[in-house]
Amino acid sequence: MERTLSIIKPDAVANNNIGAIINIFEQAGLAVVAAKMVHLSQMQAEDFYAIHKARPFFGDLVRFMISGPVLVMALEGEDAVARNRELMGATNPKDAAPGTIRSLFAKTIDENAIHGSDSKENAANEIEFFFNNIELCVRTR
Ligand code: ATP
Ligand code: MG
Repeated sequence: MERTLSIIKPDAVANNNIGAIINIFEQAGLAVVAAKMVHLSQMQAEDFYAIHKARPFFGDLVRFMISGPVLVMALEGEDAVARNRELMGATNPKDAAPGTIRSLFAKTIDENAIHGSDSKENAANEIEFFFNNIELCVRTR
């Protein structure tokens, strides 16, 4: 069993796609083990995306991520990191395979509906960024 972090971004929250996106995860065998809605501050968004600080799109990315509330989740399942990335589709929705979350719910690379951890190590760090041990639930049934 593996865990990964997923964020339903402000565009998808605004479009009321939360339920449809979680449904895709659940149908694919990824279980929600923690979830909360948060409206990130500029500092939190800059911290979270610190690896992209030098990229030309960093300012726009942070502005977008704080433009509205997001739904943050820890997902658990077999190969959760890779499976989640498959379900998300390519970063640019124009390149995203049919049926993927970005192909279904995103319009542009700037507003692309969903974030997912890109490695096991980043998944652990990103889950710790948002959730404490009490908020992470063991699925006992
Ligand atoms: P995320 O980290 O949000 O899950 P990702 O891992 O598919 O997305 P990254 O390369 O980590 O893509 O980029 C982080 C985010 O920055 C992307 O989701 C996208 O919103 C934005 N981004 C990436 N590349 C570009 C670009 N060339 N132009 C504009 N925005 C970009
Ligand atoms: Mg990324």
